[in-house]
Amino acid sequence: MKPIMRPPVDAECSPFARLRPLPFSAVTLRGGFWGRRQEVNRSRSLSHGHAKLVETGVLRNFEKAKAGAGGAYEGKRYADSDLYKWLEAASYELGNSRVDESPYDPALKGQVDEAVKLVCETQRSDGYLYTYYQVLRSSEERWQHLDEDHELYCAGHLFQAALAHYRCTGERLLFEAARRLADEMCRRLGPGSNEGLPGHPGVEMALVELYRASGERSYLDLARHLIGSRGRGRIGGRAYNQDRVPVRLAREIEGHAVMQLYLLCGATDLYLETGDRELLVALEALWDDLVLHKMSISGGVGSRHEMESFGEAYELPNDRAYNETCAQIAAVMWSWRMLVATGSARYADHLEWTLYNGVLPGVSLGGTRFFYPNPLLSRGLVERSEWFDCACCPPNLMRTLSSLHTYVATATADEIQIHLYDASRIRATTAEGAGLDLAVETDYPWEGEVRVIVEGVRAGGARDLGLNLRIPAWCRRASVAVNGEAVAEQVPGGTYYGLRRGWHAGDVVRLDFDIEPVRFAAHPFVESARSAVALARGPLLYCFEDEDQPAGASVIAAVLPPDSIVEARRKEDLLGGVVALEAAGGDRRRELGREALYRRIGEGEPPAGVAAATDAPGDHPPFFTGETGGVRLRAIPYFAWANRTRGGMRVWMPVAW
Ligand SMILES: [Zn+2]
Repeated sequence: MKPIMRPPVDAECSPFARLRPLPFSAVTLRGGFWGRRQEVNRSRSLSHGHAKLVETGVLRNFEKAKAGAGGAYEGKRYADSDLYKWLEAASYELGNSRVDESPYDPALKGQVDEAVKLVCETQRSDGYLYTYYQVLRSSEERWQHLDEDHELYCAGHLFQAALAHYRCTGERLLFEAARRLADEMCRRLGPGSNEGLPGHPGVEMALVELYRASGERSYLDLARHLIGSRGRGRIGGRAYNQDRVPVRLAREIEGHAVMQLYLLCGATDLYLETGDRELLVALEALWDDLVLHKMSISGGVGSRHEMESFGEAYELPNDRAYNETCAQIAAVMWSWRMLVATGSARYADHLEWTLYNGVLPGVSLGGTRFFYPNPLLSRGLVERSEWFDCACCPPNLMRTLSSLHTYVATATADEIQIHLYDASRIRATTAEGAGLDLAVETDYPWEGEVRVIVEGVRAGGARDLGLNLRIPAWCRRASVAVNGEAVAEQVPGGTYYGLRRGWHAGDVVRLDFDIEPVRFAAHPFVESARSAVALARGPLLYCFEDEDQPAGASVIAAVLPPDSIVEARRKEDLLGGVVALEAAGGDRRRELGREALYRRIGEGEPPAGVAAATDAPGDHPPFFTGETGGVRLRAIPYFAWANRTRGGMRVWMPVAW
């Protein structure tokens, strides 16, 4: 069977898309930064994930549901989605292996085939499929508790898995199962019949995608109904599950982070198909609220542990930051859709930053240990887990990494856009049929030099074709040269630089991004980052771990004075090869360890009972400024933390004591 190789967001025919995602196979990552991460995901994470699906009983639930015998249910009521997300990831990887025309990995193909067979055999003849109810509940209860249970949430993940499987293998079995379930949903739900709404959004974007793949209008109509009916108090009117205000009237990001962002993915997909301007105005305002008020510097979103939710504006704690890995993945998925809808570079900037600093920290370098929350400060008690009782994040990471190359480039009528830079090969064709085969050579994100080499030109590409290259917002200035001749200097970040010309095989575009280390300060209302700086270099946020500091120094007790020069150092033997940042800093843990917990400033001796330290030095400045305690501090990329022994970590480093 010939795979059709459509991308996960197949907006090629969406009437209101400004950019056209390329086919799934148009971009291959080839041994660069993301290529290596994709390889670890393929070779380590997917098999680990499958073993966990067996171990935690997810597959046994399907067996029980298939047998119709009842019994105990294992795991959470949304456990089906663990299998579906894994199947989606594995299907993308089967698609990736076909790009090189190499045969499928027999072990992975065998696991996928078996899982697809099991899912299809578990489905009821009317299309119903949700093992939690099939095992534990009577058939009368189906579709009756949509806001409490996860029938629709799991259905959405089945649709995404089925689309990935169909598009990447050409096999229709799971796709047909998904359509049977979607048809049953359309019969059961909607205006005038059952007006219930899913407690956890997610199915909306999947229904739009199923519409794109099948042309079946009722799927789009159901998505429109589910999105349009929210925010009207039908499921309790709470912000938590996105029922306080209708999406088109909303201006504030709120409630459960993943619920909010999955819903907005669906709303953006709906806009792409319908051109509903009111919806787009709301989506743009909500996106602004997210990045201007409610995002950690890592791109982490959903700062509160309580209800896994967004906090107030500027409520962005460090050690208590929740920042669920899935929330960052959802933010990437949303920004991709906003980029496709508008063509605006800011969405690509956010997507890139969040991939490196918000999503990637969620998985260990070895690919088999994960983070659910992603704090920005650890006192040494935080470590990764092999899996979770609520296992949403690991397979979500897997599907993100195995399809990551689909975010690299897009096309329009007569232009090609490159959004992400990684060692890769891009075969892009415009809507008018002109095409370029490009090889991207770069050591990005470690170095700022990118070479885009034209290897082949198709149709009108030799006469007139635009190549729009993203100049990342992290870069203050960039230069562009074609075939050794400078064509632009000092190009500002946060834009696309357009080259329009007739192209020839052998043409080389060279981009040079200014990639010096920089310090970030936060808005003064972010109380967790006051009088502190965070380091970054290129698209990478950095952090300090105890392990990298001189013996006896602790990142909790350290400072980085404002005048200290930060230097980049390539370290091939550190964390699989990284660029570390080093600077003169201070650590006065030993001295300050004898200080009283609280001191009254400027009034001599503290009153008895308030400050117990008897040997406190009496006459030092109020905030211990001026002294550095002289240690050489080293920072590593934040994505690579928690891969060695457990210890302290911080992103925001105070400038003084
Ligand atoms: Zn999660």
